[in-house]
Amino acid sequence: MTTSTPAGRPASPRLRAAVRDIPAYVPGRPPAPRPGLPTYKLSSNENPFPPLPEVLAAATDAAARMNRYPDMGCTALYAALSERLAVPASHLAAGTGSVAVLYHLLQAYCEAGDEVVYAWRSFEAYPIAVSVTGARSVQVPLTDRDGAARHDLDAMAAAVTDRTRVVIVCTPNNPTGPAVGREELERFLDRVPPHVLVVVDEAYREFVRPVEAVVDAVELHRTRPNVVAMRTFAKAYGLAGFRVGYVVAAEEVAAAVRACALPFGVSSVAQAAAVAALGCEERLLERVDAVVAERERVCAALRDQGWRPPEAQGNFVWLGVGDRAAELAAAAEGAGVMVRPFAGDGVRVSIGEPAGNDVLLSVAARFAPPPS
Ligand SMILES: *Cc1c(COP(=O)(O)O)cnc(C)c1O
Repeated sequence: MTTSTPAGRPASPRLRAAVRDIPAYVPGRPPAPRPGLPTYKLSSNENPFPPLPEVLAAATDAAARMNRYPDMGCTALYAALSERLAVPASHLAAGTGSVAVLYHLLQAYCEAGDEVVYAWRSFEAYPIAVSVTGARSVQVPLTDRDGAARHDLDAMAAAVTDRTRVVIVCTPNNPTGPAVGREELERFLDRVPPHVLVVVDEAYREFVRPVEAVVDAVELHRTRPNVVAMRTFAKAYGLAGFRVGYVVAAEEVAAAVRACALPFGVSSVAQAAAVAALGCEERLLERVDAVVAERERVCAALRDQGWRPPEAQGNFVWLGVGDRAAELAAAAEGAGVMVRPFAGDGVRVSIGEPAGNDVLLSVAARFAPPPS
């Protein structure tokens, strides 16, 4: 028996270079149980409300058929979305969370040497999803005028080259909060060539106020076939744990995304819960109103403390504390609240139960910038 390797062959499986360089996703941590101290998870932008009874019942029902594969065609979900959004089912592609759908879309359209343009700082899944394809991320800095932390759409349009395949616009932007305006998005789309896909990540669109101001990429895709609306059931619809999201796109684009998707990806339980959630959308959106009211209360209190947070249009607020991000996160954890620090940059705090938000406010008061 020999253990030597024939000359010229690697001794171990050879990883693709693109995969070796993938940055790790850092999930928001849950709080460790602390006897006598209530704890709150404000680190993952989750919906603080427990499921509505109908949604739970639909999921439980579906769970009773776990010996069967799910409907691979997501028929009931596509039918419900198709009616709700007034789009043909052929324009839909669902996956295990909108992050998975983004992976499939990038896989369908990008290869090594291609470029994907997006703002930075933005959703940390983007650089990972781009890296997997071997394409290159082109990160366009957010504007920092007065800490506004908004997309710089002019700079993003200017960053589009012959190698650009996809542009991602995150509105509202995770983790900083501002939303892109309707008109500025249209002006931007006018400048992007039609062969470049523009994915509008609308994960938090239900939280934008006033509602008349919210960008609607589903509407835009009707006249601009390079626009892709990406939406999720994870946030406003409270199904983060079930993993279901989708894109609305031109027929060829949706078909390409479905072609790259894992067979039977979206579980029967997730499909049933998503359909049920669409059926009680009004009550879910009332809960979104409650989160928005809490967001406004938290932002007003922060401003009273001397903070100037960027416009918060999602279910979270951004504290741009720079080098003190880890320190603030540790102080919050000590008080029972988990937040999401971004080293050297800032801290994202999800809007949760009022009591948890109050604890966060008491911690934030100790880090407030001195009055200028
Ligand atoms: C939470 C979030 C999503 C949704 O991800 P899922 O995979 O659907 O849970 C998408 N985009 C952004 C910017 C998010 O913050």
